[in-house]
Amino acid sequence: MFVVKDLVPDLTHFYKQYKSIQPYLQRDSVPEDGKENLQSIADRKKLDGLYECILCACCSTSCPSYWWNQQEYLGPAVLMQAYRWLIDSRDQAAGKIRKEMLENSMSMYRCHTIMNCTRTCPKGLNPGKAIAEIKKSLALQ
Ligand code: SF4
Ligand code: SF4
Repeated sequence: MFVVKDLVPDLTHFYKQYKSIQPYLQRDSVPEDGKENLQSIADRKKLDGLYECILCACCSTSCPSYWWNQQEYLGPAVLMQAYRWLIDSRDQAAGKIRKEMLENSMSMYRCHTIMNCTRTCPKGLNPGKAIAEIKKSLALQ
């Protein structure tokens, strides 16, 4: 991270990257009851281990690929949130915007599965696995 002073990082770039993945629900249609977008219990369960992220950026700052390429590589924290929205059954942007924005050599494919990120997370989350799942879904589409 860019350092302001001892123990004070400047997270501006990190939040800019987070904003770039459009971390909010996107739908073309309104819910049937006009109020809520419902989700099955099974689909809701898929978000466990992802929604708990507090965006502390510890995983990104532990990632060697992020040290070297942080201008273009999104890093594990942001990529895990990209995955969180990619698999949300209520979201309808997955096939279009969400996958397209990761289909280049830098945004995600700089991850080399070193797994420092997962070892570092203070919440016990697994961003390395989330990135692997994105790669798998792009390979199989
Ligand atoms: S798996 Fe390794 S390269 Fe990929 S985001 Fe985590 S620390 Fe970085
Ligand atoms: S270290 Fe864990 S809680 Fe912090 S940003 Fe990464 S995944 Fe989220």
